[in-house]
Amino acid sequence: EEKKKEEDEGEKTLRSPICCIMGHVDTGKTKLLDCIRRTNVQEGEAGGITQQIGATYIPAENIRERTKELKADAVLNVPGLLVIDTPGHESFKNLRSRGSGLCDIAILVVDIMHGLEPQTIESLNLLRMRNTEFIVALNKVDRLYGWKTCKNAPIGKAMKLQSKDVQLEFEHRTTQIIIEFKEQGINTELYNKNKDRGETYSIVPTSAISGEGIPEMLLLLVQWAQKTMIEKLTYSSDIQCTVLEVKVIEGLGTTIDVVLVNGVLHEGDAIVVCGYQGRIHTTIRSLLTPHPMKELRVKGAYIHHKEIKAAQGIKITARNLEHAVAGTALYVVGPDDDVEEIKESVMDDMRNVMSRIDKS
Ligand code: GDP
Repeated sequence: EEKKKEEDEGEKTLRSPICCIMGHVDTGKTKLLDCIRRTNVQEGEAGGITQQIGATYIPAENIRERTKELKADAVLNVPGLLVIDTPGHESFKNLRSRGSGLCDIAILVVDIMHGLEPQTIESLNLLRMRNTEFIVALNKVDRLYGWKTCKNAPIGKAMKLQSKDVQLEFEHRTTQIIIEFKEQGINTELYNKNKDRGETYSIVPTSAISGEGIPEMLLLLVQWAQKTMIEKLTYSSDIQCTVLEVKVIEGLGTTIDVVLVNGVLHEGDAIVVCGYQGRIHTTIRSLLTPHPMKELRVKGAYIHHKEIKAAQGIKITARNLEHAVAGTALYVVGPDDDVEEIKESVMDDMRNVMSRIDKS
């Protein structure tokens, strides 16, 4: 009863944490995302998971269902988890360093057979620079020689069913990888041994092919977000919004795909976004999300909204978006706002993006 009440209350005041998946090429970022989207629920039923623009929304109810075997009896008071779809997205490279970034929490994927690789270290440095919380998914455990598949099982349970040899190889490789992190100045520990959360990052072994460890990974993400960033996740009327992509769509012209991190956007809102030829001051013509039955290829594949509340992935149509810059912030000009001040912030963003591009 108490728990239910707390959860209902949370859903009203908290937004979903936004999660991105990072790591070296071929470690399984895309497969892991597929695996998160997949459900144990019977086919045809998505378990409430919805496809958004540039992101996938996993409702808390779905996470409860998938983690019930863990008997964690956790209070999940965020509405769900918003996972950014494109691992290694261009806008992450461009993402402004100042202010709060797009992601609240990240999954850093490491291949258990390869350990830390150049892009793992690059991702690690980005996360550190932005002070972003993360967990490590030690992926491809099913590649350990002799691994017995336990489809979608908690990793704790799956590990107990393995032979002594598999367990030893696992321990050996994990110890090695913890040392490699240490060499980068990062303390890590297996999630079930990590008593010092906050100073020490948790490692969850996973298989993106057979789904072992996904329950622990989901639960850890949400619990960690709830524990460490309630203030950031508290629903606010201040808009926080990032442009993910600029796309020309037949019949709509140039559109921007954004992630609304916090606040509400309305049709008709005056907005300012960063453009390659200077700031763009325009008005939201429409706020769009994908049609749930897009496979029907219905005409008008999008649903129009009068307003949309964070956290969500949205397509925006407006005039003059041709030169908009991915990875920068979108600002809403309120009735009492100083447009000049907002324009100044927009160009700060531009300078940040440009200096990143120069460096890479
Ligand atoms: P990305 O480049 O990080 O997005 O990696 P992908 O998701 O494309 O995966 C790269 C390759 O590794 C593909 O052939 C996947 O099928 C394979 N792969 C990914 N995850 C796993 C896993 O958990 N176990 C095994 N055995 N193979 C995996």
